[in-house]
Amino acid sequence: MRITVLTGGIGGARFLAGVRAYARKAGADVTAVVNVGDDVRMHGLQICPDLDSVMYTLGGAHDPERGWGRVGETWTIKDELAAYGAEPTWFGLGDKDVATHLVRTTMLTAGYPLSQVTAALCDRWRPGVTMLPATDDRLETHVVVDVDGERKAIHFQEWWVRYRGNVPTHRFVFVGADAAKPAPGVLEAIGGADVVLIAPSNPVVSIAPILAVPGIREAVADGPAPVVGVSPIIGGSPVRGMADKCLATVGVEVTAQGVGALYGADLLDGWLVDTTDQGADVPGVTTRAAPLWMTDEEATAKMVEEAIELSGKE
Ligand code: GDP
Ligand code: CA
Repeated sequence: MRITVLTGGIGGARFLAGVRAYARKAGADVTAVVNVGDDVRMHGLQICPDLDSVMYTLGGAHDPERGWGRVGETWTIKDELAAYGAEPTWFGLGDKDVATHLVRTTMLTAGYPLSQVTAALCDRWRPGVTMLPATDDRLETHVVVDVDGERKAIHFQEWWVRYRGNVPTHRFVFVGADAAKPAPGVLEAIGGADVVLIAPSNPVVSIAPILAVPGIREAVADGPAPVVGVSPIIGGSPVRGMADKCLATVGVEVTAQGVGALYGADLLDGWLVDTTDQGADVPGVTTRAAPLWMTDEEATAKMVEEAIELSGKE
């Protein structure tokens, strides 16, 4: 069996740990198509937060407390940059993490596409799933906000990390999406899958930028594989993260039903919601309820099993 997962960073990485555990038992192959909208260049380094969250988590090297970055991290480089007054000072750049960004940036500068760079980094981390960026092309999520009485577009990282989303926010723009092409292997992974899963990632800034790459939404919606989404909202709460702020901006109710309807019957065949959200129906989509708290790998693998059952492909 081939399972393809559309995913963001931290929430998606936890989910993927469960997919991998399920796949080991079921003898399935897993491909993760990862959001690149959060990618940003800072201090000359190309940073890919979602790819790194997935790679570090599946490689067993992530910091489970902080949620992102490396466990046992030190911050000498960040402190030294701050001592120079080098902007931006609000972005957390750990020493171990910087080594990843240096290798990545060197390879990109030498002309390797992001998909090949990701494969090279994964030689070290052995995530146990094939990791593909949604695109090798530049695609960045920008946010139209009012700051200091001025309307402007800022990078998603600035909105998220610097302002914690606490500024008047009007919309999200996926800069470069129109001209982006799916990375090599992405359309094949979707078209050749037995089941496509949409991780319980942020629908607005993790999943939407993947679907904004021309060809990907069509491949998912019109492909032969059943598509099952897993709700990132439990009982009206985004659990961890700021999906509520993102959903409010696009005018979608912060409920399992709201997110299911946002994806809609065009995209989804099945929608897995938490047991507290039983009855959260989405027209044209088969809904099923199961515990969706990703407390540990075992609980998450059980969730995945429910999603696969819902797809009818177990
Ligand atoms: P990011 O890119 O690092 O923000 O991570 P993702 O977009 O992949 O995932 C973030 C989302 O995961 C959050 O907005 C939550 O809605 C969701 N999430 C986090 N923990 C859980 C959980 O235990 N269960 C479910 N169902 N969703 C979760
Ligand atoms: Ca992200």
